[in-house]
Amino acid sequence: MIKDKKVSVINVPFGLGANRPGTEQGPESLSQVGLKRHLDRLGLEVKNDYSVICPSKEYPAVSSGIRHLAEIKEMIGLVAERVSQSILEQTFPLVIGGDHSVTLGALAGISPHYTNLGVIWFDAHVNLHTKETNPTSSISRMTLAIALGKSKFELSDIPETDSFMKSKNTVLIGTRELDANEKELIQSEGITCFSMHDIDRMGIQQVIEKALQIAGNGTDGIHLSFDVDSLDPFEAPGVSTQVLGGLTYREAHFALELLAESERITSMDIVEINSLLDIERRTARLAVGLISSLLGKRII
Ligand code: MG
Repeated sequence: MIKDKKVSVINVPFGLGANRPGTEQGPESLSQVGLKRHLDRLGLEVKNDYSVICPSKEYPAVSSGIRHLAEIKEMIGLVAERVSQSILEQTFPLVIGGDHSVTLGALAGISPHYTNLGVIWFDAHVNLHTKETNPTSSISRMTLAIALGKSKFELSDIPETDSFMKSKNTVLIGTRELDANEKELIQSEGITCFSMHDIDRMGIQQVIEKALQIAGNGTDGIHLSFDVDSLDPFEAPGVSTQVLGGLTYREAHFALELLAESERITSMDIVEINSLLDIERRTARLAVGLISSLLGKRII
């Protein structure tokens, strides 16, 4: 739902939460393939086009635990501030990552503005590892667990960090790679997960209709978090972790067109565009196209 067609673009060139370099160039790659021009064509007014000055490796490295935790926390605070500001200015926050830890900044800024926030999360992965189960030292495997308050993560200066949303209003779409403990958490927490199997069986239209019912049940806003690795790597080669068997080009567009038609989506982040791994900017162009679909572009 875009009030008065006003959008704030919040660019977050941050990749220290990922397991490989490249995602920090996401905002620049979308800019190069004409994001602004596409938003203009849709008749949208870009009230703010802001680039968060993200911390680079400026804190002393710690030898154990999550890599670059201090930088990640600082980035989350900075992103949250900008996102919160954009909501106060009654614009639609469009957050361009960056790796998936950027979503935590978006949610930290958005959730205090809603009594109960629903979340629709497109991703090949579920990112439900806790500090105890994370097989890597990268925070990207924990982002959803942190957002749901299932993995303790102190965020200085940001209130209400126990959880940004409730499990029962959280819907995963496009899932196809999860570990055993993540499967357990999905079941024990009552998170809805529409895996690729479900999409094959039900079709993307029914999946989106159900996702809107669940994320919209008793909520006063729905955030869309879109990891481009939810698409098949053939469509989106420029991602840090490719997983075969993802959404097709049209499934993804149709999904976002349906979400736009619902007029229920109140904010969006798009993450994990890795321009170092992209092929002829195919993934960046795709991301701009998907943003356009979510913000109202139609074939006819
Ligand atoms: Mg992913």
